[in-house]
Amino acid sequence: MEKPDLVLVTGAGGFIGGHLVAALRQRGHARVRAVDVKPLDQWYQRFDDVDNQVLDLSLLESCRVAIRDVGTVYNLAADMGGMGFIELHKADCMLTVLINTHMLMAARDAGVERFFYSSSACVYAADKQTSAAVQPLREEDAYPAMPEDGYGWEKLFSERMCRHFFEDFGLQTRVARYHNVYGPYGTYDGGREKAPAAICRKVIQALLTGSGDIEIWGDGEQTRSFTYIDDCIAGTLKLTDSDVLDPINIGSDELVTINELVDITERIAGVTLRRRYKLDAPKGVRGRNSDNTFVRRKLGWAPSIRLEDGMRQTYEWIYREMTSARPDSGRRSRTGAAPRPSEPHSAGRVDPPPNSRARQTSAANFHLRQLIASQHTMHPTLLCVGPMSKNCVDATIELADEWNSYIVLIASRRQVDSADFGGGYVNRWTTQDFADYVRARDRRGLVLLARDHGGPWQHDLESSRGFTLDEAMCSAMASFEADIRAGFDILHLDPNHNINGSAPTPMPEFTSRTKALLEFCRRTAERHGRDIAIEIGTDEGTVGGANAGDVESMVREVLAFCAAEQLARPEYLVVQTGTKVMETRNVGPLDGQIRAIGELPAGSELNALIALSRREGLLVKEHNADYLSDETLRWHRRSGIHAANVAPEFGVSETRTFIDIARRLRLTAVADRFLALAYASKKWDKWMLPGSAASDEERGIIAGHYVFATPEFAECRAEVERACARRGIDLDRELRAAVKGCIARYLENFRPVVQPISKSAAEVV
Ligand code: NAD
Repeated sequence: MEKPDLVLVTGAGGFIGGHLVAALRQRGHARVRAVDVKPLDQWYQRFDDVDNQVLDLSLLESCRVAIRDVGTVYNLAADMGGMGFIELHKADCMLTVLINTHMLMAARDAGVERFFYSSSACVYAADKQTSAAVQPLREEDAYPAMPEDGYGWEKLFSERMCRHFFEDFGLQTRVARYHNVYGPYGTYDGGREKAPAAICRKVIQALLTGSGDIEIWGDGEQTRSFTYIDDCIAGTLKLTDSDVLDPINIGSDELVTINELVDITERIAGVTLRRRYKLDAPKGVRGRNSDNTFVRRKLGWAPSIRLEDGMRQTYEWIYREMTSARPDSGRRSRTGAAPRPSEPHSAGRVDPPPNSRARQTSAANFHLRQLIASQHTMHPTLLCVGPMSKNCVDATIELADEWNSYIVLIASRRQVDSADFGGGYVNRWTTQDFADYVRARDRRGLVLLARDHGGPWQHDLESSRGFTLDEAMCSAMASFEADIRAGFDILHLDPNHNINGSAPTPMPEFTSRTKALLEFCRRTAERHGRDIAIEIGTDEGTVGGANAGDVESMVREVLAFCAAEQLARPEYLVVQTGTKVMETRNVGPLDGQIRAIGELPAGSELNALIALSRREGLLVKEHNADYLSDETLRWHRRSGIHAANVAPEFGVSETRTFIDIARRLRLTAVADRFLALAYASKKWDKWMLPGSAASDEERGIIAGHYVFATPEFAECRAEVERACARRGIDLDRELRAAVKGCIARYLENFRPVVQPISKSAAEVV
């Protein structure tokens, strides 16, 4: 008779079962039956090409239905949870013996080929686990028996049933002892969650609420090893394929204390929390680790995924779950207790709900929300870099990776805009090309994309075509829509310009334009399923120079509008901090004030603006931080300025380096040609101090980056590049190194927003 190829997974709506079904499909198993007692809409993972059935497997008849025509059984169904659950529900745990007994009987009677059973490290004798510095547990340590009360006894009893079903009836049983399995698509709240998921949830809650503390069960010095789900599944499949009849450990042997697990999670989240120890909470044995000698010998394999790498995946998934906007009902019931077997809906089969993939709802923008939450709690200053050139963008991506830090690229509309506006002067990038370029290289998602000064007449075309306010607003909105479609993270709404950038906008008009743009951007983002952050305010014109009272009335009116229209509030407020870039210096008053007295002078408007932002829960953003002294940059973090823009300094640095290299290589004529080209562009004009004595060369250096994408510069560049190549010099590497040096000064002083993920984590994923 031909071997039946139908594979059954029980407990398939749960954590490990869901992953196992996914893996079997990936392995090419065409016929999989997935069974769980939970209604289908509460399964963690569900696949339409699988025979999904809702059955109560504590009943023998249901087991017979589930097992019909099945060749291999993976029996994972159980009424279980973390330590908090198993210490308080011992009888419920032991009643799982009904599932295991009836599944074995049905398997025997149906002539099943192979029967996998998921046991647990809770079968190990308590006296072998009394010390945190525990001897790793070998398979024989389960006897003499003194397992975890309730849950462990049931597991040990069911293990023995498997053994005797083989000995007496010839049923090929395989038994794995799982050690603390964790990963995405599992329980993280509701009382059944285990330590890794519970700690991720608590850290995220602390971040989102700003509470700054975390409760830990016990003294945190109890030790455990935690097995990432991918290792668990790999071991399960290997064991079932093998001829190993004895119970075998499937568990990591990377031993950590619970405190160390919290350390890891804090590093992933970029926070340090106050720890409150709940000494009377359920904490289980003092120490437990897996001895993997036997599994290595028998299967030639052992778990290998590092805890930090697995925790990052788990943390990101839980973060998305906790922050994505979706009706709460599904999530609650999925993570709550499984229905009791006697509940009426738990027996028999139900039809799938119309939206069977309800779990894949639009997710929060993970990196953006993580960044904003950590800015609120830790008050670092976020560096926002103007994408002055392709090399500057590359330098930013490399630094974000090397520093393990978020950096934002802030594109003005002149630098990068949509194809409708003909792209921008930086590398001739359109919005989409720019976003694609960055996303393809920033593999870890540390570089966020922002629109700087979006708004009417912020693109020269809107002035040169003589657009009216309505036309310029529509045009600005089209540009914002392109940003949103391309996946920009942060949009700065700056409606301060008027035609030809002339007369600044009075505050009431500025406010009403801001509201219109905000409503448009929020609704457009929603339509495209994007999660964006918004900056309001400007550093320019009367608004920038306005007193705090004027800014406050603008902020209040915008926030009231958001509340009335049920729009998410803006996240950032741009304020004038006393910075101003002219020529190649910062000529605003801030630098001098901080260098003179180390703080703002009494009665400073800026203090009032920072207090306003704090009261309203907005993050403070500064523009034009170029060329500030180290001392002033270090003061930023203390002062509560959360983000700062730096742009022209990096373009100037690249231009100077190019000229230096050309001159060093005796290509003086090329350097001069480039400077003449830059000078002729007149792009230096707006940066000059009144009555400036700057030379033409200095003006050319200020304007250099504006002409990087012209064909004339391409010719200059090609000549220098050829000369460099002859001497074994990589021109772009030299230019990038110079820009990186400049950007790194800001990172060193700002102590940036750290996203502490080990490089190998990114490689593993
Ligand atoms: P889980 O709670 O996520 O999944 C178990 C599933 O079994 C649930 O979806 C539940 O609804 C289902 N179930 C309960 N009663 C049922 C019934 N009467 N009929 C049909 N289905 C029923 O748990 P998990 O973490 O995926 O664990 C899977 C198996 O691995 C369990 O046997 C568990 O004891 C074992 N195990 C897990 C771990 C771990 O760390 N997750 C450790 C050791 C052992």
